[in-house]
Amino acid sequence: MPDRLLLPVIQTEVRRPDGFTRRYQPGRDGTVTPVDAHDARALREAGATTAGVRVGGRARVCGSCGFKALFVRCGRCGGTCTPEGG
Ligand SMILES: [Zn+2]
Repeated sequence: MPDRLLLPVIQTEVRRPDGFTRRYQPGRDGTVTPVDAHDARALREAGATTAGVRVGGRARVCGSCGFKALFVRCGRCGGTCTPEGG
């Protein structure tokens, strides 16, 4: 089973070798679990990174509930998240 991946977009689609398209949408923690190595590679090409590893930039913190998020829109309360520490 491939590692969970952090997906920095609302959703993305992966074209399968058999011609079908599989849609990946991050859960509340911003991660997706690829079904196999093919999808994992495609998701990485789309910008996904290994979950649990902070890469580039700063984490964001929700101004309303303090939830640590990757996105401007808080995944917990829908508030606005600003970069941690400023
Ligand atoms: Zn929040």
